[in-house]
Amino acid sequence: MLYPLKMNPIYKEVIWGGKRLKEVFGKEIPSCNTGESWEIACHENGTSLVANGELKGKSLKEVIYIYGKNALGTKIWEEGNNKFPLLVKFIDASDKLSVQVHPEDEYARIHEGDFGKTEMWIVLDAKPDAKLVYGVKPKVTKKELEKGIKEGTLEKLLNFVDVKKGDVFFIPAGTIHAIGAGILIAEIQQNSDTTYRVYDWNRVDDKGNSRELHVKKALDVSVLSDVVGKEKLKGRIVKEGKNIRNYLVSCKYFSTEIIEINTESKESLNGEKFNLLIFIEGEGRITYKGGYVPFKKGDSFFIPAKMGDYSIVGQSKLIKTYI
Ligand code: ZN
Repeated sequence: MLYPLKMNPIYKEVIWGGKRLKEVFGKEIPSCNTGESWEIACHENGTSLVANGELKGKSLKEVIYIYGKNALGTKIWEEGNNKFPLLVKFIDASDKLSVQVHPEDEYARIHEGDFGKTEMWIVLDAKPDAKLVYGVKPKVTKKELEKGIKEGTLEKLLNFVDVKKGDVFFIPAGTIHAIGAGILIAEIQQNSDTTYRVYDWNRVDDKGNSRELHVKKALDVSVLSDVVGKEKLKGRIVKEGKNIRNYLVSCKYFSTEIIEINTESKESLNGEKFNLLIFIEGEGRITYKGGYVPFKKGDSFFIPAKMGDYSIVGQSKLIKTYI
């Protein structure tokens, strides 16, 4: 019997991490330098384990093996692809991250044997003066970019954006970007771990070493377009009775909605594609033909493609994403 699979998070400790995943979501983080919680992952650098029901303890990879297209959906299956396409994370940046860029699919396949990485961020919390980097200033050329990277003067070419809770950013592969200090986000991305570091704010560790920059690859894949004023995504808001659904992104790699539920939201899956649910506020239960599974904010679920009708009950806010 198919059921909503709650996934156990995988924590990543990093120098720029913090402890807000515990403060905001009550997560059992390993230390005060926890930067990422991989919520739903099926990558060689981290694979989620099921937290509930008869498949408890199995990895998402095993779930796909057991359920096959009933988990992944016919849409991916019939393309002859049984790889899980997405990766969902919470990121707590207590300090700013390096400035980076990701390749698109073809470059990633040739150079890294990985998927490309288009990603999106939903800001869950931000300190009052928080900023992030989204692209470069208008008319910056590759030559100027190269000079900036090599001489450590990239900062003046970067496009900084003020960030507040609720902001949404869509970051196509090739966009230079950095998450700033004091920002907590939910990230939805292609299933990839390929990052080219462009600039590390001239930081050094306690031994005086700086982190490696990937100059050539970063220059290869960077797309320099005018993004000023177009950084934030508004989405398309639809009222559904007492609920509000915001259709944020629908791209080649994923579609994402935010749903604010006051009583109940009926959802349905006919076997074509799976749903990922990431709860960011409230609590309640997911009901389905075989019963129900409780949820609270900070929980993430994989809903198999052949689930059929299911319902999200209880005052809550969640991110729903699918291909
Ligand atoms: Zn990124």
